[in-house]
Amino acid sequence: MAEELRACAEQERLSLYFARLLIPAREAENKEGAHNLNCSSESRTAFHWKMAMNDSHRRFIQVLMSHGIMEASAVRKLHRHCCEIHKVHYVHDKLDDFIDVLNKHLKPVFMEIRKRFGEDDGKRYYALVNTAENDVAKMATDYAENELELFRKALDLIIVSTSGFASSTYILNLADNLQNKKMKKKEAEQLLQRFVQDKWLIERDGEYTLHTRCLMEMEHYMRNNYPDLMKICNICRDITIQSQACVVCGIYIHLPCVEKYFKGHAEPRCPHCSEPWAHEIPDLNQADSQSSPIPSTSKNGQVQTQERRLSKTQSNLRSRR
Ligand SMILES: [Zn+2]
Ligand SMILES: [Zn+2]
Repeated sequence: MAEELRACAEQERLSLYFARLLIPAREAENKEGAHNLNCSSESRTAFHWKMAMNDSHRRFIQVLMSHGIMEASAVRKLHRHCCEIHKVHYVHDKLDDFIDVLNKHLKPVFMEIRKRFGEDDGKRYYALVNTAENDVAKMATDYAENELELFRKALDLIIVSTSGFASSTYILNLADNLQNKKMKKKEAEQLLQRFVQDKWLIERDGEYTLHTRCLMEMEHYMRNNYPDLMKICNICRDITIQSQACVVCGIYIHLPCVEKYFKGHAEPRCPHCSEPWAHEIPDLNQADSQSSPIPSTSKNGQVQTQERRLSKTQSNLRSRR
């Protein structure tokens, strides 16, 4: 319920913002004929940009906001639906341009639509991200200070783990040790469920990893706070939580990047050290034709990385606290 109210309040705030933007656009529309007769290409571009913001964008952002994160195929359908319902010219391959227009208008309210692929399914996702805070503090409107502390600790465990997953037992044990205010085990269990519902974490067989939305929101925070610990994919240079690692040189590659990079290679070799790649290439499933491929590898099938990482991390975490 509280979640719905928050979403409504946020939607209302942005709806008002977009309503204000629409007025100048409509006024401009009436003057279009006169304006187009005699103007430089620069001012025409500026004019076009202003005109580009319309009700289809407004509807689009409201739906995306209510979901938080959406898969690319659903976003493409939504793009089409919003254009059709508001009788706006629809071009199927212009979704990125459509989103660029929105992002120009979202910037002043410190929000941005970002896209990235899911590490475990390889599908492409779009999410509305808060750019005002590059910290876990961006969750502060929804969570108490001790709840954020537990989230940070869970994040620590996930990032230092070799598999990208932290067991619920380990996370729940930390609830006893919070500096702000201790949490009963039951409360901590419910909190973990909320993190899952709110799309910050994903739970699988009693273990937790980061939701794709969390990766989008927290990328800067993680790069800044775990500069030596964050795994970076050798292929796409993006951060990675779940990945395969070269057993010789230790580089990491996202599962979808592994599939794409080694596709068709009879004897896959590490792109960095050229030693044979010692892992099974994920068996991919092209559910979304315009997205990255989808690896079906389970977390247990993923690669194990160096133990030294863990000990180094533990000492780093101790020194940070
Ligand atoms: Zn990658
Ligand atoms: Zn290597």
